[in-house]
Amino acid sequence: MSNFEEKWLDEKDKEALQYIEDITTKADEIQRQILNEILSKNANVEYLQKHGLDASTDSSTFKKLIPLVYYQQLRPYIARIADGDDSSILCSNPITEFFKSSGTSGEEHKLIPMYEQEFVRRLSFFSYITPRMKQLFPNINWHKAKGLNFHFAKPEFKTKGGIVVRSIFTNLHKRSSNLRSMPSGNNTSPDDIILCTDSYQSLYCQLLCGLYQNDVVFRVSALFASTLIHVFKFLENHWIDLATDIRTRTINPKITSSSVRESVMKIVVKPNPEVADLIENECGKGRWEGIITRLWPNAKYINAVVTGSMSQYIPLLNYYTNNLPIVSDHYGSSECFLGLNLDPLCNPDEVSYTLIPTMAYFEFLPIDMLNPKGEVNQRLVDLVDVKLGHEYELVITTFAGLYRYCMGDVVRVTGFKNKAPNFSFVRRKNVVLNISNEKTDEAGLHKAVEEGGRVMKQFGATIVDYTTYADISTIPGHYVLYWELTLDDLKEQNLNYIPCSVFEDCCLAIENSLNLLYRLARSHEKCINPLEIKIVKAGTFEKLMQLALNRGASITQYKTPRCLNSSQIHIIQLLESNLVSNYFSKNYPNLE
Ligand code: AMP
Repeated sequence: MSNFEEKWLDEKDKEALQYIEDITTKADEIQRQILNEILSKNANVEYLQKHGLDASTDSSTFKKLIPLVYYQQLRPYIARIADGDDSSILCSNPITEFFKSSGTSGEEHKLIPMYEQEFVRRLSFFSYITPRMKQLFPNINWHKAKGLNFHFAKPEFKTKGGIVVRSIFTNLHKRSSNLRSMPSGNNTSPDDIILCTDSYQSLYCQLLCGLYQNDVVFRVSALFASTLIHVFKFLENHWIDLATDIRTRTINPKITSSSVRESVMKIVVKPNPEVADLIENECGKGRWEGIITRLWPNAKYINAVVTGSMSQYIPLLNYYTNNLPIVSDHYGSSECFLGLNLDPLCNPDEVSYTLIPTMAYFEFLPIDMLNPKGEVNQRLVDLVDVKLGHEYELVITTFAGLYRYCMGDVVRVTGFKNKAPNFSFVRRKNVVLNISNEKTDEAGLHKAVEEGGRVMKQFGATIVDYTTYADISTIPGHYVLYWELTLDDLKEQNLNYIPCSVFEDCCLAIENSLNLLYRLARSHEKCINPLEIKIVKAGTFEKLMQLALNRGASITQYKTPRCLNSSQIHIIQLLESNLVSNYFSKNYPNLE
């Protein structure tokens, strides 16, 4: 490491960087220790005893006796804890809170049990990120610079048994003022604003504070890329009010929370006509390309997850930010923090995460031998035994009561950091379109949509967002893709200038990049009808997000569902009521 790179690193930072070296070097030993500790600590819990475990259980007996489970199998145990049964059901420590998972990628919400000491232990996960960024951006003044980090809290509630339920991010923000290592540290918005559970007021004021301090902002971030796109759209619609508030040191009357208003006033200490002029000049052009770097000229990078279903937003992020580097720094979930990207400035299409061996005991279910009943479990492999290029479903065992719990995430081994494997995120396992056993998964669908996106790009249109469903109301059934498009040239008011044939070609381009089973079913067996693209009005996917928020989802964790099913009829109705036009593939896909 050169002295230049070390410029901003204090002793704690250096320790955090060294810590990753140490734990990845000893990944196998640490994994053994973690499992031993989990089993000895929880030897008395009902769940493990029911499966025949006791205090002397070793790892191979554990693997023999404990079945693989999904959340559904744990639900009855979790329900008892939630209802107030305080015996040691899953975990010997009393459960102090539940984390509520997003449940927006096509599944239901989950309640993940947690206790205080375990969560504090896991927070070491984040201590690596800031030192690594200090190394990579030595030209940022890390003492003064602030992050414009968009985060949102959801209202908390208590279960019948009195246990608090909240999102993991609400928890993180409640403690962030005491935690220097948190990635959200040194934020332009005080925690009071982030913790305001009215997302409109919170977002407006986060933008207000971020714009007011525009010269010190070194990065713009959110947990997921989709949230940033939502924020940028909000800016497009609210810049006039924001500029007025900054010019006159007022706050729009729509912001009714007195604590939020007070917090804003502590940041916006005097009128700032220069920033107000900048906003009016730049946003007044009505051209959104590069708006982020125009308003925050010192921003050096964007920080958001852009892997998995989020990769869809990379072109739009590039558009709004004039291709600022995108840092997709971690992979985590309500169940467990999982992996860190140790090469944060890599190409966003090539992001890998190193699994952090102290977070949980990890096992890997080779993707070709998945058994939904969890019966065949001997052939799972340990963290240090995974094979380069192979795909696995991640299975975790945690201190807080998840044993051989299948995450539903499929990951691929891309390399190793010392003994710890690096993984790329491939897809959610249960997201699939299926009409004739062709099983188009999330990754295959995304690749095909990208292909369609390339066709549209030549005609000046970019896909803002998409979702799909397999319409089997007619026989044969067919794939329906709902697309929202944005036009690069804002002088064009609508899509009429693009000939129908372009959309039809686009349908075919998508079909041509779907898997062979799909193409055979379409072209040879003719048991799938032509693929259909349905264009929806601008703003439809914002409405879809709002629908999810009204039903309890959080903006921070929200993910557009990529494949809809019949239980999501309310979403399909919303999309249909915003329909602009539709197009079908006019040819058969090729079979090469
Ligand atoms: P939640 O518990 O609601 O925060 O959702 C966690 C899920 O989000 C994970 O199981 C993944 O499916 C997805 N996820 C989280 N981080 C990433 C990432 N870096 N890349 C892709 N997907 C992610």
